[in-house]
Amino acid sequence: MSRPLPDRRTITQLRRAYGLMRRRFGHQGWWPGETPFEVCVGAILTQNTNWTNVERAIANLKSAGALEPRRLLALPPARLAALIRPAGYFNVKARRLRAFLEVLVRDFDADLSRLLGGPRETARARLLGIHGIGPETADSMLLYAGERLVFVVDAYTRRIFARHGWCAPDADYDTVQRLCETALNHRPVAGRLDHWQDYHAQLVAVGKDYCRPRQPRCADCPLRPLLPESGRPAS
Ligand code: SF4
Repeated sequence: MSRPLPDRRTITQLRRAYGLMRRRFGHQGWWPGETPFEVCVGAILTQNTNWTNVERAIANLKSAGALEPRRLLALPPARLAALIRPAGYFNVKARRLRAFLEVLVRDFDADLSRLLGGPRETARARLLGIHGIGPETADSMLLYAGERLVFVVDAYTRRIFARHGWCAPDADYDTVQRLCETALNHRPVAGRLDHWQDYHAQLVAVGKDYCRPRQPRCADCPLRPLLPESGRPAS
């Protein structure tokens, strides 16, 4: 599919942004998780909560010897919900986890590489068809567990991009994803996966500590050199 090119300024700034963030934060080594399956479980548990809470829920699953697709699916729903309680919204997330596990075990014989494999858009549509999995969760699974070339967009990404004038304040997920994938395709394929994995992690670091919803800390932020000429966020 051909994609319209972003303007030159945006491409240049997006490429420069990575160097600025990386120099400040170092390589982030994302995603935390010992196995691709743990990465997928974490991607569902991290919805609407912080990673510290997810770690506690995953530690519970490990202690119960349940961090494996068939064993996790075999847990009674109430027991699963109790184990992941630290991640919040535990009944909702237990249902979402079970929906994911049912597809993984029933349709793919618990083989994650098959669930995440095949043509990119097919794999993505497959994940999006599972109850409770939206674009950010699906793309996190594909990028970090499946090692597929897919750019993950989150609320931090959209806020940072809008404030720098790289996208419209109301740009939707797919528009921002297309922008990133078009502008950041300059590295050889061999290095692009790590670049996209780490780029998203760097944006999270900026979003968490600097580009807050109110009173962004521009003066100390590594992306300050890329602010509009006014020296203030665009939105
Ligand atoms: S410089 Fe300001 S607007 Fe830009 S990312 Fe940093 S905190 Fe956000």
